[in-house]
Amino acid sequence: MDRNTIQKILIGLFLFACIFIGIRAFDGNLFSQNQSKPEANGNVSSSRMTYGRFLEYLEMGWVKQVDLYDNSRNAIVQASSPELGNRPQSIRVEIPVGASQLIQKLKEYDINFDAHPAPQKSILITIASNLLLPLIFIGSLIFFFQNSDNLGGNAGSSPMNLGKSPARFDQKPDTGIGFNDIAGIDEAKAEFEEIVSFLKEPERYTLVGAKIPKGVLLVGPPGTGKTLLAKAIASEANVPFYSVAGSEFVEMFIGIGAARIRDLFKKASENTPCIVFIDEIDAVGRERGAGIGGGNDEREQTLNQLLTEMDGFKENKGVIVVGATNRVDILDAALLRPGRFDRQITVGLPDRLGRIGILKVHAKNKPLSEDVSLVQIANRTPGFSGADLANLLNEAAILATRYKKAIITKNEVNEAADRIIGGIAGSTMEDSKNKKLIAYHEVGHAIVGSALDNHDAVEKITLIPRGGAKGLTWFAPEEDQMLVSRSQLLARIITTLGGRVAEKVVFGEPEITTGASNDLQQVTNIARQMVTRYGMSNIGPIALEDDNNDQMFLGGESNEAVADRIDAEVCKIINHCEQVATEIILDNRVIIDFVVEKLLDAETIDGTEFRKIVREYTLLPSKK
Ligand code: ADP
Ligand code: ZN
Repeated sequence: MDRNTIQKILIGLFLFACIFIGIRAFDGNLFSQNQSKPEANGNVSSSRMTYGRFLEYLEMGWVKQVDLYDNSRNAIVQASSPELGNRPQSIRVEIPVGASQLIQKLKEYDINFDAHPAPQKSILITIASNLLLPLIFIGSLIFFFQNSDNLGGNAGSSPMNLGKSPARFDQKPDTGIGFNDIAGIDEAKAEFEEIVSFLKEPERYTLVGAKIPKGVLLVGPPGTGKTLLAKAIASEANVPFYSVAGSEFVEMFIGIGAARIRDLFKKASENTPCIVFIDEIDAVGRERGAGIGGGNDEREQTLNQLLTEMDGFKENKGVIVVGATNRVDILDAALLRPGRFDRQITVGLPDRLGRIGILKVHAKNKPLSEDVSLVQIANRTPGFSGADLANLLNEAAILATRYKKAIITKNEVNEAADRIIGGIAGSTMEDSKNKKLIAYHEVGHAIVGSALDNHDAVEKITLIPRGGAKGLTWFAPEEDQMLVSRSQLLARIITTLGGRVAEKVVFGEPEITTGASNDLQQVTNIARQMVTRYGMSNIGPIALEDDNNDQMFLGGESNEAVADRIDAEVCKIINHCEQVATEIILDNRVIIDFVVEKLLDAETIDGTEFRKIVREYTLLPSKK
């Protein structure tokens, strides 16, 4: 039985206990040991009288019968008196302890009496039931506390070890990660190699008076290898590695997070030199007083403790704190001051060469067939993080296993890439007019794109739906572009319009579909940015909007006037591009028909095949 089941059972018992208590309380008889109910005997009415009054009744001879209950502590008396209108009544009397002569008296007055014993079993059961409920209650409480790490994700919040550091700790770290396993983030790696050499031979540095940073902050999007770097320094320098997530310090109870920090640093300073890695440090280090949610005081205390600990080691004796975050902007400024995290290393998304390097690292333990080109994969995957790339190759390996192949071929790699970029493939469409229209739309993109000098080459055209798209055309960028020229932006707009234009030219204006809406959004975005941010329109080299799309102040002209001019320029660009696209489509109508024919047949055409088909036909005239 696992913990979850036990938990469920306990919760069930607990609820049952609550219901039980509820019922008993409702009954008015909570925990009563009185199993027999004297009232039930009352045949007329049941009123009460005191013991003294009862003795008077006895003397007056008004008592007819006495039933004793609860070891003679209660009695139901049948009596009739002039006070009661001479009608027989059953009256309840509480008999004080020590009234042992009562029975004597009853005999004396020759009164009918009967003693009713309480049911025997009740004693055990009542004791048990009275103990059981509190026991269940206390038991569940303890259980909940001990397992709140399971429930809430916070390790070590058991009352038994509150404040103990939940950090995982390896004395001889075998993280299995070396610098060779990391690619594409060379600057960060160089920085860390230096830290490793400090950890190995600190004297070399202290001799020349060099100070080694106490804290290094790794800043970058998720999956770029920040954790990997920290692990690599630990194993390369062969020092203990404490790893902990910032969220583990975020606690409900004031002081616990701070206590954990204290404990972590105590352990670390006993094991110098060592690395303390705090992932998602923004969970603890968010700017104080920013007031997001409750538990602020707790968080501030935790942060203060962290600051104190980092100030604690005056010159670095070998505890190096490595923090990772992708939100350096929300960190408290105090954390970034000299002597704390005074080194910041940006770990960005890898560029094309970086991606090739990362792919090589992850291809090492995978049998790849010769037709797989890591360069080509890298070309296709701008914007991918290291984790995405690792995932891509892993996905390809899984697919190869599924297809019962001994090695991973180009097919699996491409399918994996398609999945990750575009989502899971849907099933292909039935042959229909729609399918034909989609084919023309996609081939429109492809032909227009390859007719333009400044556009990337076609990577693949497919009619297999993916994500939200019914068909897709992929272009492979040659390399990551830092700077994009005006003619490249125009080529993008023209190519993106190529799909809709092909629909219009082939099927006529009334038949165009909603399928192009995403294309049109992209086109409008690019054109607008050309006007408002890049100064690439007749308005001239003026930034009209800043990075947040907020209008920048322009003296003299009203906002509406500026907006009108922007709109006019955007329309002009798009109209011009539509015209170019239309010309290309009309010029290449024959070849478009031919490619569409092939595409409807094969459903997917890759770039090389596409270019072959195109070459066999007309040489496309180059257009600007
Ligand atoms: P982060 O800590 O930045 O979120 P990780 O270091 O946990 O990212 O990376 C997750 C995984 O992605 C790693 O285990 C590794 O397989 C892969 N990875 C990420 N970046 C790289 C890189 N630069 N080189 C090689 N592999 C990488
Ligand atoms: Zn399209």
